[in-house]
Amino acid sequence: MLQLRDSLGNFMRCSLGDGSTAYFWFDYWTELGPLYTMFGPSGPRSLRISLDATVAEAVVDGSWHLPPARSELAETLQIILTTIPPPVQANGHDVYLWRGGRTSGFIKSFSSRVTWDLLRVASPVVDWHSTVWFKEQIPRCSFITWLSMLARLPTRDRLLSWGLNVPSACVLCDNGVESHSHLFFECSYATAVWSCFCGRFLDSPPVALSSIVSYCHQLQGSHSASAGIVIKLLLQIIVYQLWRERNMRIFRGSSVPAASFFRVVDRAMRDRLLSLRVSAIAPPSPSLLELYFWFISPFS
Ligand SMILES: [Zn+2]
Repeated sequence: MLQLRDSLGNFMRCSLGDGSTAYFWFDYWTELGPLYTMFGPSGPRSLRISLDATVAEAVVDGSWHLPPARSELAETLQIILTTIPPPVQANGHDVYLWRGGRTSGFIKSFSSRVTWDLLRVASPVVDWHSTVWFKEQIPRCSFITWLSMLARLPTRDRLLSWGLNVPSACVLCDNGVESHSHLFFECSYATAVWSCFCGRFLDSPPVALSSIVSYCHQLQGSHSASAGIVIKLLLQIIVYQLWRERNMRIFRGSSVPAASFFRVVDRAMRDRLLSLRVSAIAPPSPSLLELYFWFISPFS
């Protein structure tokens, strides 16, 4: 309880009103923080204020009422109290304040987002975040693409490095060690489906995740920004469907021939683009779906 209140002190402060709810020993109502952490278990006896006392109980006739200081710490507290007006009923209730941000002070409203930002250890921003996470994303596809960006999918090269007894060969082409780069870009099965989408925006199948990320960056903010969305969606659907196809072959024994895999990706693209609501006020011109149809028109 004490530890919890102590750590809460980093996020919560008490602004005294009438002092009737603020705990004298445990709430963060002076700049010293919770007084119990400073005075320790002997504090209540030395200041003659009970452990469960409210701040109002340290006030008599409108003035702070503490015994003469017998320690440097008690003296410090008394000095600080001279700067704090004693709580009175006319001030209304005590108010608890939450930290508003890393640089701002304490505010009345609580924000889980701000508090989470204060609690977490922030990692550096990666340059590919907007390629994986964007408004038109498909969450399950973004998740698998995110794992592939981090090279955290349990590909066979990783399983082998962990000492597992598994074959190393890629199940899609049976001609190479299954790794992230192989599965999504170097594999002939992957290259075949990427080739189906080359000709309009993509000149040739991307060779790595980094190359398609930098291409999406080029498109962002340009007149081809909508094309960037289509490419990002295509990337995550291809990565997801390749990973799914790989798993279906390993765990279910079923497979989709390379020649038919384009249809799997195309169906997923159409489903997603059809599901997007077009703004009635400012519809994109052309719509993402129309853009996609133009994208694939040489092949469909
Ligand atoms: Zn392969």
